[in-house]
Amino acid sequence: GAVDHECDLVVLGAGPGGYSAAFRAADLGLKVILIERYSTLGGVCLNVGCIPSKALLHTAAVLEEAQALSAHGITFGAPKIDLDKLRAFKDGVIGKLTGGLAGMARARKVTVLQGSGSFVGANHLNILSDAGTSVVKFSQAIIAAGSQSVKLPFLPDDDRIVDSTGALLLRSIPKRMLIIGGGIIGLEMGTVYSALGARLDVVEMQDGLMQGADRDLVKVWQKLNSPRFDNIMMGTRTVSAEAKKDGIYVKFEGANAPAEPQRYDLVLQAVGRTPNGKKVAAEKAGVLVTDRGFIEVDRQMRTNVPHIFAIGDIVGQPMLAHKAVHEGHVAAEVAAGQKSFFDARVIPSVAYTDPEVAWVGLTEEQAAQQGIAVTKGLFPWAASGRAIANGRDEGFTKLLFDATSHKILGGGIVGTHAGDLISEVALAIEMGADAVDIGKTIHPHPTLGESVGLAAEAAHGHCTDLP
Ligand code: FAD
Repeated sequence: GAVDHECDLVVLGAGPGGYSAAFRAADLGLKVILIERYSTLGGVCLNVGCIPSKALLHTAAVLEEAQALSAHGITFGAPKIDLDKLRAFKDGVIGKLTGGLAGMARARKVTVLQGSGSFVGANHLNILSDAGTSVVKFSQAIIAAGSQSVKLPFLPDDDRIVDSTGALLLRSIPKRMLIIGGGIIGLEMGTVYSALGARLDVVEMQDGLMQGADRDLVKVWQKLNSPRFDNIMMGTRTVSAEAKKDGIYVKFEGANAPAEPQRYDLVLQAVGRTPNGKKVAAEKAGVLVTDRGFIEVDRQMRTNVPHIFAIGDIVGQPMLAHKAVHEGHVAAEVAAGQKSFFDARVIPSVAYTDPEVAWVGLTEEQAAQQGIAVTKGLFPWAASGRAIANGRDEGFTKLLFDATSHKILGGGIVGTHAGDLISEVALAIEMGADAVDIGKTIHPHPTLGESVGLAAEAAHGHCTDLP
């Protein structure tokens, strides 16, 4: 049939993975088409994920910090919250970034086509839009169609039951809010609503919040955050919900389940995200998709069809923007003929709650499971001049080193700005640094970053006796 557009590389989906791949490929000289079903670039991350949530979390943190100044002798009146203005601030942040991306695409001569793309063959895609259907012929393709939140099938259709996208709309501030799923996304949104005045309940099937994080970090988080919650229900299942005039009545089952259904003004379902692998007709191009909708790739991000790549949430965990970006760069470079590989040792994780929780590499639990002997270096922020001056000395920095080589294997930080601090630990792991390298690096004083150097020193006395 007729071909409307032809290119060296088509990128399907303009999230952090897709736009990063498209821009890198264009910089390397390929003729690139970027297909996105929505009118703005940036995907989940910019439009309904990382960025809007951080805009609101920043607001929440400043609000609570201002209230905490009463301990320093400074008091403000009760906050007046104008949700329309707050929403406008958040939307303005998104607009700046998505607009910036559109400009970057133009500057690189990346052709952006709006519409829903689906494969019709190994070298052809259809784009469906309001304007009709057009056909793209490509030499290579990168699938970057991302993921969407899992919907619990038994929850009724009601405005007061939302996923993260609905929660970010900030329609109103509930008195009682239930968070289903105690992972990062649920707890971040809970932090925002709590700062704005909501009382929280959280229900989690597993036996702890923030699965994947070091338990010692989570303990500190939970102790500080328990005042936000009326009920933290671990090892508990949500089994049904009924929408009534005065609220959503939710029933639970399990060890910590209340006997009676509980009434909520807002229910946030945050039980994970599911990949969009089955929604792009990948099979028509011969690309294998797993039952769960993931697309498997090799270390060059190639699918089973060598000229078709996949990146980001659609290829698996962890579903994080910085992983998608890195994979996008690898795929684009390989498509442009370079010998790139995904060979990152570690991918950091951050919960941008208050305090923040950040970790990278091996955790203590994993070291124990894998029988790896580690030396632990712990620096409590109660001994950090800067943390004390900030009035926020509840955190700690923990580093794990190989017991024989003293090389760093992992680290975790709980405390304000932990997300910004974890990068040094990630770099140290990538560089194969040992405790001496980190401990003897002069860190500026007084900073929270010093805690990384001090934790390394704590791991091995004062490091001087090391090889
Ligand atoms: P996506 O961002 O999902 O982008 C895929 C794009 O493809 C979308 O724009 C979609 O519209 C488009 N698309 C899909 N199918 C088609 C089709 N057939 N045709 C055309 N277009 C299509 N990660 C972090 O690292 N840090 C955070 O702080 C963070 N916070 C988050 C907060 C929330 C509330 C949520 C929901 C997620 C958060 N994430 C965070 C995760 C992060 O958003 C994702 O990991 C990231 O967006 C994945 O990027 P991607 O490029 O794989 O896919």
